[in-house]
Amino acid sequence: MWSFSFVVPTFLIMVIILIFYFSLPRLDIRMNRFFVDLVAIETITIITDIAASIVDNYYALVPIWLVDLLNLLYFVSLFTRSLVMYRFTFGALGVSVARSALMKQVIRTPYYACIVLTCLSPFFGFIYYVDESGYHMGNFYNLIYVTGFFYILMSFLAVSKYRKHLSGRRERYSLILYNLILIMGMFIRYFLARYLLLDTFVLMAIIVVYLAFMNPEYFLEPRGVVFNSYALRQYINEHIDDLDERCMGMVVHRYYEMRDIYGAPQTDVGLNLIGRYLTQICPKGKVFYYRRGRYIIFGDKDVDFKELSNRIAARFRNPWVSKTAELYFDVGFATIELNNNVESADVILNTMTKALGTVDSNDSEAPLEVTEDELYQTEKEIKIKRSLETAIENNTVELFLQPMIDAETGKTVGAEALARIRDENGELIPPGHFIPIAEKSGRINELGEQIFEKTCNFIKNNDLNKMGIQWINVNLSPVQFIRKDLSDRYSAILKKYDVDPRSIHLEITEESMIDDCFLKRQIKELSEKGFKFVLDDYGTGYSNLARLKNCPFINIKLDITIVREFCREPDEILPTMITAFKHMGFGITSEGVENDGMAAAMKKIGCDYLQGFYYSKPMPAAEFVKTYAM
Ligand code: C2E
Ligand code: MG
Ligand code: MG
Repeated sequence: MWSFSFVVPTFLIMVIILIFYFSLPRLDIRMNRFFVDLVAIETITIITDIAASIVDNYYALVPIWLVDLLNLLYFVSLFTRSLVMYRFTFGALGVSVARSALMKQVIRTPYYACIVLTCLSPFFGFIYYVDESGYHMGNFYNLIYVTGFFYILMSFLAVSKYRKHLSGRRERYSLILYNLILIMGMFIRYFLARYLLLDTFVLMAIIVVYLAFMNPEYFLEPRGVVFNSYALRQYINEHIDDLDERCMGMVVHRYYEMRDIYGAPQTDVGLNLIGRYLTQICPKGKVFYYRRGRYIIFGDKDVDFKELSNRIAARFRNPWVSKTAELYFDVGFATIELNNNVESADVILNTMTKALGTVDSNDSEAPLEVTEDELYQTEKEIKIKRSLETAIENNTVELFLQPMIDAETGKTVGAEALARIRDENGELIPPGHFIPIAEKSGRINELGEQIFEKTCNFIKNNDLNKMGIQWINVNLSPVQFIRKDLSDRYSAILKKYDVDPRSIHLEITEESMIDDCFLKRQIKELSEKGFKFVLDDYGTGYSNLARLKNCPFINIKLDITIVREFCREPDEILPTMITAFKHMGFGITSEGVENDGMAAAMKKIGCDYLQGFYYSKPMPAAEFVKTYAM
């Protein structure tokens, strides 16, 4: 006699999960589709299990064909469930179930064989048979366990092979747990078949993945109306190879100001109303909230985004009203035509972020159409970012040196250390491209330190005197400058290479001088360790003389732009400024000296040092040694 003590409560819990799962919007991605299959097959299996067990218990009261039929349905569901559970593991890992045709056969054959044997069971009794004494196991009954374990084993192999596909440890462990629970369920079924416990174990496995990563709320904004940015990434990543859609971004103008004006809770209410409205007017589209007042809508090629944006803009002329708020917002739009050439979700999202940034600052309502060129530009930036990360991680940021010339003697007396990295083809990438990216991601700290360390190593291993070099200037990004442990880190490196701090000058720009108090403290700390400071790129910022007075710079470097401007159209401003600087005790360096005329002009107005292509372009450190240590 089968016992229903577990399977009935299991069924009731399953119903609750189904209600929760289907009451919320679900994202159209493979993992979700596989999960739907999983809960569907589990529900069917439980129902057929209960039905077959009832007729087995009361076989004398029902026709034999009914006992046969319900058992057949149960076994078909049971085998199908094994396959579907295996498929879910693959869906979660984000790989297709079987890549090669051979693999496909290996996976499908046991399933089809079992289904055929089940269908023939009413006639030949392979898996089960029913006679006048009721239901019995057939000769091949144990195939249930063989196929069950086979699919679980394949799942484990897949998890170990593709574990890197899972974004977090929680997903990884829960997928392992999911399969372990299935194994336990199989053992329990083997020894305690009477209690119909396998269904309960499968439900437990489903609950594990539901809680870990399948809860639809993980893909939704807090109020469950629009999908969130995690869902957005998942959606794009999955569809990246067959994106034949258009995507429109919408930004609430001056988002942070709006938050200040209305307060955060009210603004969130407004954003929620907007999200609800967007999902209503784009029933065919998928609406995602992409943080900071930005929405992204995907739609087929036949969606007219121009008309849609006009409609949305018209709606924004009216307030967004809730019980507690009446809010006015302004919006702007950008559209991107997508095709299969897009390389990654980052390309689309970064391009959209830039476009919406432009739209926000322009304050215009007409949608900005993003060109293919802009997508390409973003792709290039992402490649640079990758090269940058590889270079930092492999310690292959290269040290280039550019000589600095004493204007009086014409001799090389110093050099500036400049960073270089290479792309995947070994071509140099100019710092103008990678430094801003490194600053944005904070990796400039490691990059700057690598160049500093390589400069120290250079000083240690080469006789600077022999090259006529008294010091090497190293650039310090404003991002590095705000580090509180900067002086400790840099002096530790000096110690490691046994380098005299006087042989290194740190170049900072005016951007580092935003906070006077911090500037003074940082400069004091570094000066105590023996470092000297140079002000770089003078003329590109807003410094006034009074502020410079308080800073112990030993030298001010005139930026290439003011040098060029002066040489093209000489006036009294630059010479007067230089005179004032010299009165204040600063040395002066001219950057960007490209010909002898510029050299003569800059020398004449009082520059102490000259640096530029006229003397030499920056060159690899080894080449610098070859050139100057003769
Ligand atoms: P910067 O510190 O002002 O460096 C001078 C830049 O001017 C260098 O560009 C140099 O190649 C260029 N230059 C020198 N002479 C001439 C000339 O006659 N004509 C022209 N057109 N350019 C000239 P580079 O190496 O491309 O570096 C650009 C900027 O990237 C640097 O400007 C600096 O701000 C930044 N950078 C480079 N290396 C590092 C680094 O290690 N750390 C940090 N934080 N920034 C760096
Ligand atoms: Mg510099
Ligand atoms: Mg400069």
